[in-house]
Amino acid sequence: MAYDPNNIFARILRGEIPNSTVYEDAHVLAFKDIRPQAKVHVLVIPKGAYVSAQDFGARASEAEIAAMARAISKIAQDMDIAESGYRLIANTGGHGHQEVPHYHVHILGGQPLGRMLSLP
Ligand code: 5GP
Repeated sequence: MAYDPNNIFARILRGEIPNSTVYEDAHVLAFKDIRPQAKVHVLVIPKGAYVSAQDFGARASEAEIAAMARAISKIAQDMDIAESGYRLIANTGGHGHQEVPHYHVHILGGQPLGRMLSLP
């Protein structure tokens, strides 16, 4: 799947749409989800143009991959959920119900999250 430079997260990265930033570095931007599904709901995205987790894992540099992991740990610490626990979700492609075609990891926490999956 080709990267769509007009997807909503690409527009956020270009500053065309406001966001509630919680973390930023050379490779990563993280901001609050506009429709939070838990008390803490942050989206962590690479600044590079990657469609999905599949695309990111195949093409991203080691520096970009490391930056995502480091950012997630730092954000969890900063949001005070590192000890209580949280869930990471990277919806990918059709069966994964990915809506925005720019790789992103959801950090969900701040409350008990229940079982991992609710299948349709
Ligand atoms: P997906 O289903 O692709 O994993 O999740 C996309 C997420 O992006 C959803 O949780 C949705 O609420 C969030 N989202 C969509 N548009 C915007 C936006 O303009 N700003 C922010 N902050 N989040 C958005």
